[in-house]
Amino acid sequence: MPLPEYIKKEYKRTKTMPGSWNLALYKYKFNLSRTKVFLKGLKDGLILGLKCRSCNTVSFPPRLICGRCLVKPDQWVRLPETASVATASATYDPNDKLREKPRPIIAVRQDGADTVWLHNLPPEIDFRSVYIGMPLKVVWAKERKGQWLDIDHYEPIEDPSIELNKKEE
Ligand SMILES: [Zn+2]
Repeated sequence: MPLPEYIKKEYKRTKTMPGSWNLALYKYKFNLSRTKVFLKGLKDGLILGLKCRSCNTVSFPPRLICGRCLVKPDQWVRLPETASVATASATYDPNDKLREKPRPIIAVRQDGADTVWLHNLPPEIDFRSVYIGMPLKVVWAKERKGQWLDIDHYEPIEDPSIELNKKEE
């Protein structure tokens, strides 16, 4: 059966005004009360995710509202220090004006979590060697202060699935 043709309604243009919105000038309220537990966890060397009781989605870093069912998640769960690359790209250091040294930037999914966040690999890693599913481990900052950068970066660990994919000679 042919689909009915889409009819776009014509609106009469009345008046136009040039203008722009500078979104950087807007001020946003950010509720820190929920991140307190998370940041205290980081200080103590714990990876804490926030679980939604309604749909069991675990967010890491914690989200104030569950994106799936709009409920306030309230169950803290301890997650392991392992993670994996969800997706990756390359970026340049601001001082690298000639863009000679691309370095990897990754979206990380902490094991046991359903959400991702952006983070860094050691800069000496060639971004072309990064792949989706690459197993990682948290590298803590030398001194943990209860802040986001207590997780200094992620480091690749041995991938057991590579052995499985090797062809027998
Ligand atoms: Zn939910």
